[in-house]
Amino acid sequence: MNSIPFGNSKIKYNVKRVTNRKTTQILVDKLGVQIISSSDKTQKEIKDIVVKNSKWIYSKQIWANKQNDLKITFKQGTKLPYLGKNYLLKIKESKNEGILLSKGTFIVKVNKNTTKKVQEIFKNWLKEHAQKIIEKKSNHHAKKIGVKFDKIIIKDHKERWGSLSKNNTININLSILCAPSKIIDYVIIHELCHLKIPDHSPKYWNLLYKMMPDYETHKEWLSVNWKLLNF
Ligand SMILES: [Zn+2]
Repeated sequence: MNSIPFGNSKIKYNVKRVTNRKTTQILVDKLGVQIISSSDKTQKEIKDIVVKNSKWIYSKQIWANKQNDLKITFKQGTKLPYLGKNYLLKIKESKNEGILLSKGTFIVKVNKNTTKKVQEIFKNWLKEHAQKIIEKKSNHHAKKIGVKFDKIIIKDHKERWGSLSKNNTININLSILCAPSKIIDYVIIHELCHLKIPDHSPKYWNLLYKMMPDYETHKEWLSVNWKLLNF
């Protein structure tokens, strides 16, 4: 573990060296700071990068620590995430059940206000929007990568964000719709690249890097936030 002083505190960081890497990347989450750099960079050069970015790293750490508090509870007055933005949740009791996203607020009408019911209505709303959004993104990225898929299936499962099944079918986790757009892109590009290279060999990560040079930030975001999205 290395560290630099920052104001009255310290910024601690780990260094991971990767061969064939041209750029240096700084990953920040609640577990710490990781610097991913090419293997030829000296400790001093890496330290200089950390010093230069210290203000940004510090604020990112504060942000990362706050993420824990954002668990979705489906309770009145809390927040519901959609495409990376948090919207206020208003629950109204009504005979006609439904959900509406209007002026930055999700208004959910339920017969009886239970967490399960509100969650179910929100999930159904996500399902309605997911197919169109995921398909549009997938078509766009497939063209760029030069692959063809058969169809997209939106799944409500907890195990993984995406997977590939027989006949080039891409399965995407419904909850990903709550994440920022770039994260959704990462999950899609990740699966599309598997159409060319099925395994997670260095060749695969190289292809992914070529298609999305900042993919590691998004991968990291998912590893920090997956619990928030898995409801
Ligand atoms: Zn994979």
